Amino acid sequence: MNLIFFGAPGAGKGTIAKMLKDRENLVHISTGDIFRTAIKNKTELGLKVTSILDKGELVPDELTISLVSERVKEPDCKSGYILDGFPRTLVQAEAWSKEATIDAAVYFDISDDEVVRRLCGRRTCPNCHSIFHVEFNKPKKDGICDVCNSELIIRPDDSNESINNRLKVYHTQTEPLVEYFTKLQKVIVINAVQNSEKVYSDIAGKIK
Ligand code: AMP
Repeated sequence: MNLIFFGAPGAGKGTIAKMLKDRENLVHISTGDIFRTAIKNKTELGLKVTSILDKGELVPDELTISLVSERVKEPDCKSGYILDGFPRTLVQAEAWSKEATIDAAVYFDISDDEVVRRLCGRRTCPNCHSIFHVEFNKPKKDGICDVCNSELIIRPDDSNESINNRLKVYHTQTEPLVEYFTKLQKVIVINAVQNSEKVYSDIAGKIK
């Protein structure tokens, strides 16, 4: 099964993808995590995209599409994958629907106010990419990842200025994908303002 998760930043795509990948034996591919790992490791790709991510802009389509194309060719993707945060533009969506089989595109529906509330308190693990929140999903030990014990960080693009820009970019570039995938009869709309178990079970009930 090949799934696409799309929606505003902070809608819970990463959290639910992590739950679903373990339970359905799918590979979780987060383009954001791929870029952040490249930045951390100071690779050629990382150096190219650092300032783009910091500002909350989008990495060029061509580069992003070829990166995902290469990733899904790896043997672990044979039994299926969840694309978290890709496609994010109409150009990416059109290219991807020509290139790959898409079983469903899950749209995480959430208001801007809720996005801001969530992103302001988000803490992430730079090592294993686990996601926490200072209020709604506290780690067991303050500031420390439950999974791998690394020190949690605030993502540079979770600053107020960058959040506003990411929302603007989301509305102009990514929101049109709802209509695009609706026309392809692939869209599943999920109310993302519920606890993660409920969001998970809503999705699980609709993809089977
Ligand atoms: P995310 O972790 O999904 O919020 O992505 C973090 C950042 O990575 C975004 O703000 C973009 O700068 C970049 N990014 C992730 N996915 C894509 C994509 N499909 N197209 C372009 N840029 C992306």
